[in-house]
Amino acid sequence: MECPITKLTKALIARPSISPDDHGCQSILIERLEKIGFTIERMPFGHTKNFWAHRGKNGKTLVFAGHTDVVPSGDYMQWSTFPFIPKIINQYIYGRGAADMKGAIAAMIIAVENFVKKHPAHYNRLAFLITSDEETKGTYGTRKVVESLINRRETLNYCLVGEPSSQLKLGDIIKTGRRGSITANLIILGTQGHVAYPALADNPVHRATNFLHDLIKKKWDQGNDFFPETSMQITNIHAGIGVNNIIPGKIFVQFNFRFSNDLTDILIRDTIKNMLSYHQLKYEIKWELSGQPFLTCHGNLVNSAVQSIQELTNQKTKLCTSGGTSDGRFIAQTGAEVIELGPINATIHKVDECVSINDLKQLSLIYQRIMELLLL
Ligand SMILES: [Zn+2]
Repeated sequence: MECPITKLTKALIARPSISPDDHGCQSILIERLEKIGFTIERMPFGHTKNFWAHRGKNGKTLVFAGHTDVVPSGDYMQWSTFPFIPKIINQYIYGRGAADMKGAIAAMIIAVENFVKKHPAHYNRLAFLITSDEETKGTYGTRKVVESLINRRETLNYCLVGEPSSQLKLGDIIKTGRRGSITANLIILGTQGHVAYPALADNPVHRATNFLHDLIKKKWDQGNDFFPETSMQITNIHAGIGVNNIIPGKIFVQFNFRFSNDLTDILIRDTIKNMLSYHQLKYEIKWELSGQPFLTCHGNLVNSAVQSIQELTNQKTKLCTSGGTSDGRFIAQTGAEVIELGPINATIHKVDECVSINDLKQLSLIYQRIMELLLL
């Protein structure tokens, strides 16, 4: 007999919901939540399906957040199983999305069903915020839903994102923040010309080098107790058209910052502007801000998560802010405490992605315990 978490995880994996296509996953979740008294609000934007669901009217709100979309399987011939036909091998469920993050979504649903059964009149409010576009740009996903919720003055107090935060053992790490991410697309302008007549041209590659040197050498901060030091990486650089007798007219440089909460995107933009004018460069620059840094300091949610993990897995969890960005960054704008707590991340986005059934069962119990600590 398959347990309810396995059944639901498999049902979700069987739907090839490659971003932003939800492929019917959310209908499965909505049906289950409606059955236990949640009010559902579908909030589609563009091609992205999202929903907001809530139960209870009073007190503080705990939100379970996650995404139903997955990254593509890549060449399925390299898989030992079919990526969208879930299969159990040695108590692991295999399939695209098993760990990121359909398993965690199943664990949340089962946890909430059990909690509501035991405590149908829970005092505080329970909610779900689910999107079908986290893995690509996410333009019409959590970001938009959060905008709408903020506009109508919804209060979110605690948000638990089921992203795979664990590293070696379930619950060994929870993410309590993320670095910010911003990209600069810079074009430094010169004057194109014949290499034999440099006086008639202005080589932007030569002009750029001192600036780039300073950019690479610059120390942006020292890092702090919660964040590693800010890192700037040049990701693309291009000039010239491939011939050896033309001085190029421009050079394109793209660089990305992963920044701590000691900085802001404005501070980074201003500093770069000053550096460019110090080097007297003619330029055009376009910035893409993917996310501000956020940090959830010790509060009720962090404490409840730490306590629940201790009780159920008998280990001390580590609080950490490393890794890429996640939808937590949008939810943090509501002022809610945001943490990420989910299964082991060893196989995410990889061939043969899988998740341990035992871990999902435990994760579900941890989620349930957190609700007991926060909502009664
Ligand atoms: Zn994910």
